Amino acid sequence: MRENMNEKCAVVGIFGHEEASKLAYFSLHSLQHRGQEAAGISSSDGEKLHTIKDRGLVMSVFNEEKLSTLSGSSAIGHTRYSTAGNDSILDAQPVFARYDLGEMAIVHNGNLTNAEEVRARLIKRGAIFQTFMDTENLIHLIAKSEQDKLLDRIIDAVQKIEGAFSLVFLSRTKMFAMRDRFGFRPLSLGRLPNGGYIVASETCAFDLVGATFVRDVEPGELLIFEEGKAPQSIKVFEPTPKHCIFEYVYFARPDSSVFGQSVYESRKNMGKELANIQPIEADLVIPVPDGGVPAAIGYAQESGIPYEMGIMRNHYIGRTFIEPTQEMRDLKVKMKLSPMTDIIKGKKVIVIDDSIVRGTTSRRIVRMLKEAGASEVHMRVSSPPTTDPCFYGVDTPSKENLIAANMGVQEICDYIEADSLAYLDEASLLRSVNASDDTYCTACFTGKYIV
Ligand code: AMP
Repeated sequence: MRENMNEKCAVVGIFGHEEASKLAYFSLHSLQHRGQEAAGISSSDGEKLHTIKDRGLVMSVFNEEKLSTLSGSSAIGHTRYSTAGNDSILDAQPVFARYDLGEMAIVHNGNLTNAEEVRARLIKRGAIFQTFMDTENLIHLIAKSEQDKLLDRIIDAVQKIEGAFSLVFLSRTKMFAMRDRFGFRPLSLGRLPNGGYIVASETCAFDLVGATFVRDVEPGELLIFEEGKAPQSIKVFEPTPKHCIFEYVYFARPDSSVFGQSVYESRKNMGKELANIQPIEADLVIPVPDGGVPAAIGYAQESGIPYEMGIMRNHYIGRTFIEPTQEMRDLKVKMKLSPMTDIIKGKKVIVIDDSIVRGTTSRRIVRMLKEAGASEVHMRVSSPPTTDPCFYGVDTPSKENLIAANMGVQEICDYIEADSLAYLDEASLLRSVNASDDTYCTACFTGKYIV
């Protein structure tokens, strides 16, 4: 069964604004990098929930007319990213349900690690599922809970799930935001200019809608939004932070601050660390756009080697990762990145990327730069080798497809046909994000899983 469909996603919630669905829509635009497969919004007008969701980018799912049907002063939204393309729009979010207490919609970023057991138990007790999403488990857990109030039912339900979840729930009159006790995935609280509230996966959404950052939703915390009241906070779980380090490496947008720190500064630091521990003489430092840009700036600043834009990115092509077959991925890499021949010709170049996953992108890039006349191509990666899959919500492939799980650094270097290859190490990575203790999950680089 294909579950775990709500991996690297974005969630947003707006409470107390007469144009809630529009603000959710704009926020989803700024969170589009976290998922391009499907998008959706549910709003509440106090009496009824309204939902629109579909496959595709935020821009193609919504238009003015559709947004005008999403009336009310609260709204939640989602963009979805998943591995293999499930075409069913049922697997888009918000997940909506009618149950004995009324209507409810849920959006989820993360990955529930006990989803299959919970689902099997629910099915045995007669539950009927419509989607493959682990998020649907929550609907059933809430609907079947013996508690009288939605708040208590939510608490009941989240105590039965394990893994990574940043969740936003919408009922007719309330909104709830919840983060798992590890705080794997980010979720921040902001204040709208009119006094209403916003919660979003990344703070770049706040900037767009003019909201001010208040604080992160704490790991294990449940926030309740109710009209005329300040958000109420309940500590559902004792927090044991294990933030996802990959948010800094690749996932979050550089203009966001996640887990209390600027993503851009963190990435630049990674580049500086890399220049110190993996120096090499060269004429130019060039990034693999867009992911490698901040680290390449850091590398260039620290090493004194000039920074140039050596590769052009076509922004009208989606991320290469989402294509399920290898053949399609190769083609998409070619369509997406092209060399700036005049800049590169005859030069020794250092190419910086944030990560190597399967090795497809790096191999293609090295070839492309050599074909464009680079005399030497030195690949530098601003994170450690990705050796282990993620079970908490980042879409990394299984171990057999992770090149660093199967080859040593020199072998990878040979495979990607580079003149040299070097990675950042774990200690330098943690230093780059100012992590003083073990409050980060680094399982994708270390195999040390938490749950
Ligand atoms: P690959 O060709 O499989 O080695 O992919 C490496 C490229 O994918 C790098 O340029 C990364 O910026 C990017 N990348 C890393 N992790 C992910 C991810 N989880 N989803 C999509 N792209 C990714």
